[in-house]
Amino acid sequence: MIQTTIVGSLPKPRWLAKPEMLWAPWALDGDALAEAKRDAVKLALKEQEAAGIDIVTDGEQARQHFVHGFLEHVEGVDFAKKRRIGIRADRYEADCPTVTAPIRRRRPVHSDDVRLARAFTGKKLKLTIPGPMTIVDTLADDYYKDRRRLALEFAKIINEEARELVALGLDVLQLDEPAFNVYMDDVVGWGIEAVEMAIAGLSCTTAVHICYGYGIKANLDWKQTLGSEWRQYEQTFPALARSRIGQVSLEVAGSRVPVEVLSLLRGKDVLVGVVDVATDAVETPEAVAKTIRAALAHVSADRFYASTNCGMVPLARDVAYAKLRALGAGAAIVRAELGHT
Ligand code: ZN
Repeated sequence: MIQTTIVGSLPKPRWLAKPEMLWAPWALDGDALAEAKRDAVKLALKEQEAAGIDIVTDGEQARQHFVHGFLEHVEGVDFAKKRRIGIRADRYEADCPTVTAPIRRRRPVHSDDVRLARAFTGKKLKLTIPGPMTIVDTLADDYYKDRRRLALEFAKIINEEARELVALGLDVLQLDEPAFNVYMDDVVGWGIEAVEMAIAGLSCTTAVHICYGYGIKANLDWKQTLGSEWRQYEQTFPALARSRIGQVSLEVAGSRVPVEVLSLLRGKDVLVGVVDVATDAVETPEAVAKTIRAALAHVSADRFYASTNCGMVPLARDVAYAKLRALGAGAAIVRAELGHT
């Protein structure tokens, strides 16, 4: 009853990568880097456990970026041919690799990560993989030249990968789709179709994460243009509620999302963002509890997962872990009020 989880990423220790930035360069290489990544995953797991998080992740410690970390293992994606393109409908620019040939998974991407994490925690384990639409939106494409077709090809690769991870003991597969808050017509047109193809036949719990992005300047500026109420979710949640996806992760804390849109997800598990990742101000447990209570009017307690709004990779480490502890403590307050301890 009101379990806790996080969206996925946590800040990396400075002995692993340059802190407080996206696409941070690694601080080591070769075997030393591989060992440091494993150590960072273990730390991230134990920090989550200590904060009272029920469904934990590897903190995405082993990947440089949530999209490109996956693409590095896909044949047909040329990282030598990077191009600066506008992504998320030109909200910001990024140096993106180019699809130059048919795509194929070169080798398992996350098997070692899941094996390591599974052996190191008894908690339920979640792994995040970028969703097909968000992948397509973070790439240059000289080959398929059709976003839906390319997304469906990526869905097949994700599905292949996911089946192996479930066999290794993964409990929850989450597909990250921040693009679902940008191209709402395409979400209904082919985005959900691609996610359903990616999760087809999986025996684990499946989730999709949809947010307003990390707390970086481009996103904060964009949010200023969205008006007094953010109603993007309203356009996609009815279709998500009809889909085969088990859980939907979304942003509430500190946002202008009208909390009643959560009721559009009836029948789904809802991972409610009750911790804001766009500010360094650490929530008090009582503030977290207050956001949970407001959302509980629209989501039943047995379907309610208290979570962060988005990944925390760009935050300072002490801030991120203080926010985790507030999340755990805030959920405990509400559970106690409801008579569940
Ligand atoms: Zn997010």
